[in-house]
Amino acid sequence: MSTVLETTGLGKRYGGTWALRDCTLRLPAGRVAALVGPNGAGKTTLLHLAVGLLRPDAGTVQVLGRTPAADSGLLTRIGFVAQDSPLYPDFTVPDLLKMGQKLNQRWDSEFASARLERLRIPFDRKVGKLSGGQRAQVALALALAKRPEFLLLDEPVASLDPLARREFLQALMGGVADDGTTVLLSSHLVADLERVCDYLIVLQESRVQVLGSVDDLLAEHQVLIGPRRAAAQASPAGVASVIRESHTDKQSTLLVRTNGPILDPAWTTRDLSLEDLVLAYLADPSAGVLPGPSPLGMDLTS
Ligand code: ADP
Repeated sequence: MSTVLETTGLGKRYGGTWALRDCTLRLPAGRVAALVGPNGAGKTTLLHLAVGLLRPDAGTVQVLGRTPAADSGLLTRIGFVAQDSPLYPDFTVPDLLKMGQKLNQRWDSEFASARLERLRIPFDRKVGKLSGGQRAQVALALALAKRPEFLLLDEPVASLDPLARREFLQALMGGVADDGTTVLLSSHLVADLERVCDYLIVLQESRVQVLGSVDDLLAEHQVLIGPRRAAAQASPAGVASVIRESHTDKQSTLLVRTNGPILDPAWTTRDLSLEDLVLAYLADPSAGVLPGPSPLGMDLTS
């Protein structure tokens, strides 16, 4: 399977502080990947390195097999929507479409205008006077009009209300489904991304903490509910590691990474949501799931 984004030991430093450190990851083509992490984790830094707005201080980054900061030709093949959808506020949608046409060789103006008409975005109003949700849709339509092979979006839904968020993500999925575009979108809120993403990258404290296909990660983790267990008590068979645990007087609840079926009848198992999984890892920076030789022998990058 071809790779769209590949980083090896990638790092970016501001003064003596690493904004991103030791970042090694591979994003296969055709995935819709969530880049998740708390504020300050390094998400924007990674996206800016991937689109060539920043140069690495350590390691390498390759996008579609090329080096972003050194290869301006790459820009015709990728789309990037920066945080807060920056657009010229005095331009109308037709002005922006005209500008896009002039600046891009591969530009599908008809596609963008049909899309924005369908979303009932007013064409006669300056974009500075549109709502946040409408501006986000305009920025997305402009990025899609480039027909990019790889689309990167930095916190595209952060400033939108829940309904606008849902509409935006639906529009995004509708816009990329037919072309098989690879998408990487960052958010500090994972609940929004659960329905749309099939690949997960969690950054915490400038490092990659979790990486892999959502299906594999969810299959590999479970919540166990059983009798209150003592601190030193061994975990039931099938548990590779306990990521998080909580207790009441009589009962323990464990969020675990498994390496086999949990057959012990004392424990009830239930599946967990992507949000539960991410929150559990974020609560424990020392825990992580990275590809490579794992206890399960699973290649999480495929
Ligand atoms: P995120 O997008 O996950 O919120 P960022 O990539 O914006 O995180 O930032 C990662 C770290 O790098 C933060 O600690 C931030 O303060 C720092 N940082 C980002 N940009 C700069 C800059 N231009 N100068 C100094 N520090 C920066």
